[in-house]
Amino acid sequence: MIIHHLNCISTCPIGGKLMDGQTRSLVKRGHLTCHCLLLEADHGLILVDTGLGLEDVRNPKSQLSGFFLAMVSPDFREEMTAVRQVESLGFNASDVHHIVLTHLDFDHAGGLNDFPHATVHMLQEERDYALKQRTWLDRQRFRPQQWPTEQHWRLYGIDEGEDWFGFFSISQLEGVPNNIRLVPLPGHTHGHCGVAIKLADKWLLQTGDAYFYHQEMDPQSPFCTPGLRFYQTLMEKDRQARLNNQQRLRELSRAQGNQIELFCAHDVVEFERLSGRSARVPVQHLRL
Ligand SMILES: [Zn+2]
Repeated sequence: MIIHHLNCISTCPIGGKLMDGQTRSLVKRGHLTCHCLLLEADHGLILVDTGLGLEDVRNPKSQLSGFFLAMVSPDFREEMTAVRQVESLGFNASDVHHIVLTHLDFDHAGGLNDFPHATVHMLQEERDYALKQRTWLDRQRFRPQQWPTEQHWRLYGIDEGEDWFGFFSISQLEGVPNNIRLVPLPGHTHGHCGVAIKLADKWLLQTGDAYFYHQEMDPQSPFCTPGLRFYQTLMEKDRQARLNNQQRLRELSRAQGNQIELFCAHDVVEFERLSGRSARVPVQHLRL
């Protein structure tokens, strides 16, 4: 299976170096990715997360909340949307048959609009909670404007799981090869998941927003920048579960690091290592 790493629109949070650890200044904005995957499977394309989409680029003020627009100021370039990168690889949007979603936050679900025929797979718990819109922050992060394809969603209970390296996993995603599975990692949201993909020689685990900074997975001395620590605390729905899952992922990485490659959605260092290119360019530049 061929895998493409796509950064589907960077975000540029206030806090600079305090967020990403790399930007030279605290005054300048930082740089984070929306790390999605495009999988070329036998019977069609599968996307893991969708980043921000065309409608977010064209009408950010109606699609997204003013709070997050101010806080993370996405770098709205149409060529970085998932659909444009899919096209630049020579495919059509309709070739994407399935989307496996880590969670419904605006920076993961924004591209759902651009693949109206795809079946979307996620935990039932994620959909149920996101629809409730209980708090002010829920209404800023979960944007029903991004979900017109809701009739194509397939929802899974956590009890449908089976063991995967000591984690629950859901491998029977309707129509999806069973080498791709949802791995529930609640905390950031109630129905938050990682997505595990079996390759010839190892597993990839896209951990979504289970952690935000590559050094958080350091088994000896885990470290997160203060800005991203703050952001994760702001966004968490279940602190105990989030920290517990981070600890489990660190342990998984330590014990199974040669078999499983972990990465998260927003870390530029991980994105550039895995994609082999700058996070600021779309995928077709790889082929020039
Ligand atoms: Zn996110």
